[in-house]
Amino acid sequence: MVGLESATALVREGLSVIIDGTSGIVILNPSQATFKEYLEKKQLYEYLEQELLSYRELAAETLDGHSITLRGNVELAEEVDLALREGAKGVGLYRTEFLFMNRAGIPEEEEQYQAYREVVERMAPHPVTIRTLDVGGDKLVSDIDLSEEANPALGLRAIRFSLQEEKLFNTQLRAILRASAHGKVRILFPMITGLTEIRCCKDILEKVKIALTAEGYAFDAEIQIGIMIETPSAVLIAELLAQEVDFLSVGTNDLIQYCLAIDRGNEHVAYLYEPLHPAVLRALQMVCRAGQSAGIEVGICGEMAAEPLYALVLLGLGFDELSMNAPYLPRVKRIIRQARRSEAAELVTELLQFGTAPEVARCLQEKMQQRFPGIFPAQQARKASADS
Ligand code: PEP
Ligand code: MG
Repeated sequence: MVGLESATALVREGLSVIIDGTSGIVILNPSQATFKEYLEKKQLYEYLEQELLSYRELAAETLDGHSITLRGNVELAEEVDLALREGAKGVGLYRTEFLFMNRAGIPEEEEQYQAYREVVERMAPHPVTIRTLDVGGDKLVSDIDLSEEANPALGLRAIRFSLQEEKLFNTQLRAILRASAHGKVRILFPMITGLTEIRCCKDILEKVKIALTAEGYAFDAEIQIGIMIETPSAVLIAELLAQEVDFLSVGTNDLIQYCLAIDRGNEHVAYLYEPLHPAVLRALQMVCRAGQSAGIEVGICGEMAAEPLYALVLLGLGFDELSMNAPYLPRVKRIIRQARRSEAAELVTELLQFGTAPEVARCLQEKMQQRFPGIFPAQQARKASADS
């Protein structure tokens, strides 16, 4: 639960609190009746969780035979087992910055190599998409000294930082390439804004490959590379960027932030963070079309991919891959398996006719409630409420 502006002022030590993350409701000091009601809800939730596990082995395929690849987002090697258990067909986003956090010093090549290798081996034969370091903005690493910036989200972060700290970038690319000798690896570069950045990344990668070859290391010489589409500029030139890479992966957490000019971590403007904003939908459509005309895979690895309510929209837009935190995989797969690609495409056409996010949301919720009544019950108020 995020964006509860008054929660910290209202919650006192020792107060009973019910947090219903599925509906976005927080109840302070619940009555006995409310407590009982939520206890029953919790039991039902746990029962449904068990039922969802049956989706693990089933294909993520629509009723009209269209397949979509579902992958997991991981930060640590231990999370790979959970992703596999929930049916992931690979890792769509391995956030490597966690290897750099909460520790003294920067991990050396060998340590990084061992960490990446473990993820790759655990996930084999499925691919692992390793994202290069994405520090700065909201992600801080104790031993990386980022100077104070007035606008960190617009400052020296992600690929900009790596291109400036070439030694650190080299070390990481060496470790990733060496890990590619143990299974299928794809490299993902974060927060690309233009062609120059991706071309620099490719040049550096080629130099690293030459050095590793000279040193006798094994690696996948044909390793696939992709970029995260997280900025409006990347959306607008997606067609050009798609010519340079093997796949595109949309980071909606940042794309929404930059597209709608709202700080993703600022609770005061959290109400403006609207994944269904017509600008966001159009941006996603542009990226899918760019990928399709270049004949490359387009995925989405931001939180939007994990929301079952959006599953039909993303299917209709034409995404090939959805990558998310493991627990959401069966929920999204359940929708895909009960849907037709054709109806998803019609839904997108309808949604794109609305001019505001609330209109899009209302229409989508109504459609999903009608279409999947057991999965989307009648809308509950999405506000924090107090029982007393
Ligand atoms: C994103 O921006 O959507 C994304 C997946 O990257 P992160 O959340 O790590 O910034
Ligand atoms: Mg991001």
